[in-house]
Amino acid sequence: MNCIFCQIASGAIPSAILHKDESAVAFRDIHPQAPVHIVIIPVKHFTNLTELKGIDYDVVAHIFEVANDLARKEGIAESGYRIAVNSGKEGGQVVQHLHFHLLGGRQLSGELG
Ligand code: ADP
Repeated sequence: MNCIFCQIASGAIPSAILHKDESAVAFRDIHPQAPVHIVIIPVKHFTNLTELKGIDYDVVAHIFEVANDLARKEGIAESGYRIAVNSGKEGGQVVQHLHFHLLGGRQLSGELG
């Protein structure tokens, strides 16, 4: 298992875990782009969005629930936040385990690329 996010999910690599359940894990991004920058991943390894099919999409709904809960806990629910996914090479994905960025705590730009 050489996927860094699988190793974070299993606890083999330490990280600042904020949430963990049987299907999703959330931890602080090691190079934060905003005062709040949390990475939320499915425990199950999917390389990116294109691998999802059928019941796999349930975990996406769950990740949005986790993200909204964390946004409230981090105090950014009212001020606003962004959830972003980079999928594939031209999407800017670097770590090859599907993940959702939760960003907030500053005024984010309108640029999406
Ligand atoms: P990008 O680096 O362009 O945002 P990704 O969407 O693949 O591309 O994001 C990977 C994210 O994972 C980055 O924000 C990076 O800082 C973060 N990251 C990489 N390794 C770790 C780690 N060990 N712990 C926490 N965050 C990490």
